[in-house]
Amino acid sequence: MIASSAESVVLTPHPLQRVGAYALAVLAGAPDPHRLTRDAFDQAVSTMAEDATGAALVRDTKAARGFWLKCSQSLFPNSKMNHMPTLGKRTDEEIGDGVRRWRTRPPEASWPGVPCALCGREAVGFFGKVDVPLAESNVYRNNTPRGHEGLALCWPCVCSFHALPYGCQLTGGSTVAVHSWDDQFLAHSVRRQVRGNRMVIGVGREPRKPPSREVLALRRLRDYEHRISAGIELIVFNNNNRGQTLETYALDQPLAEWLRATLTGGPHQGSFRPLLRAHQTADRPGIVNMARNAFRDPQRVVTTCGHYLAAAAVTGNHRPDTDRIAAICYSYTTEVLDMDDSTLKEIQGTAARVAALLAAQDSAGKIKAFHADFKQPARLRSWLRRQAVWWMLAPPASVPDPAGALVTTRGYELLFDPGADSNAWFHREVFLIAVLEELHRLRWRPSDAAKVAVELTNDDLGPTDNGFMFHRDDDEEDQR
Ligand SMILES: [Zn+2]
Repeated sequence: MIASSAESVVLTPHPLQRVGAYALAVLAGAPDPHRLTRDAFDQAVSTMAEDATGAALVRDTKAARGFWLKCSQSLFPNSKMNHMPTLGKRTDEEIGDGVRRWRTRPPEASWPGVPCALCGREAVGFFGKVDVPLAESNVYRNNTPRGHEGLALCWPCVCSFHALPYGCQLTGGSTVAVHSWDDQFLAHSVRRQVRGNRMVIGVGREPRKPPSREVLALRRLRDYEHRISAGIELIVFNNNNRGQTLETYALDQPLAEWLRATLTGGPHQGSFRPLLRAHQTADRPGIVNMARNAFRDPQRVVTTCGHYLAAAAVTGNHRPDTDRIAAICYSYTTEVLDMDDSTLKEIQGTAARVAALLAAQDSAGKIKAFHADFKQPARLRSWLRRQAVWWMLAPPASVPDPAGALVTTRGYELLFDPGADSNAWFHREVFLIAVLEELHRLRWRPSDAAKVAVELTNDDLGPTDNGFMFHRDDDEEDQR
């Protein structure tokens, strides 16, 4: 038997429905979907219908207040709010009536007698992409085959999808949802987004340039004060008639929590700026590159830092924040990338001895040659073998324990294990950072370093980085 479809919003396994349910709760002034009263639910549904009517009455997506109308084409294509061929011909009243009818629960007599595909309560109809993003794409699973009427949904689930855009970053084209199975974080994230969007959707204010999708997720983490208990997904979708798209990116829980703790201060207070500096390029701010690496290729956070430090070291110089960057990379490597402490210590031990060898020579050319060898594992291995012999014959005077080997058997294995599951390439990246950190700690500066005309101290953060770290968000601004 199908449960009755009371106007209570429940959370289902559909991430976009969940984002929408939380957005609906915020619109209704409730702390979460579970505490949404029937009256507040009706009020929120009515607010959304009025917003949709207001957008439709602009009739022109390029008009000053046409942003929500433009967005709606990528969210609710061919709906009563944006059917462009007819909008220009209809009176305000006709448009308002059409939108309100679309946003009114279908009469009980027309219900199909099947359960809601998402929550199992009684469906009020079948819904396609006019109401549900991607519901008719021929690419994705939840499609509507020819001859089928769509996705069976109850009214609260339909209304969750109508509320979804309020909880997303709107761009005018693709829409970006930040989702997590950590309900408390999701509530926080959606609340922030809805507040900003109310000014864009309800008041018609021109939106600011949206941040990149990955930076958006970092913003949400930055101002979240609690430990996050699940990962984060970025869902980028476009429901437009001209081509539906869906891209998803995920941050696993350890990385999400590490970023949150680092961004909000935590044990690495002061280290986030150097991390961003290491990621800054001529064409992109550090935060954008860092966020992209975190979502798409987490190990690249470490390799990028290694390249940044090495670019200075090959001239015989050091980045002034070398120690901070090395420390944050070690933390990232053990807490996020799961390297165990004994592995890190072995790599650091090898690196300290190699750094002592390099520091014993008063030439920037030596580190340059070492770095050239580093890029080719076979050459690095033979370099280490050669040095190991010299090490045994005449260890550098500065070495505290000259009796030990330059590289232990385990050290070799960590750096050069050819096995299919081997993570040797990544161990070498950590090794490089550890060598450079040790040279920095030894204050090694060969006498020819000064000749290298490289300015290493004026690579300050660009304005966008500063904006991300130290200024208020768009959505905070919008609340004023
Ligand atoms: Zn449902």
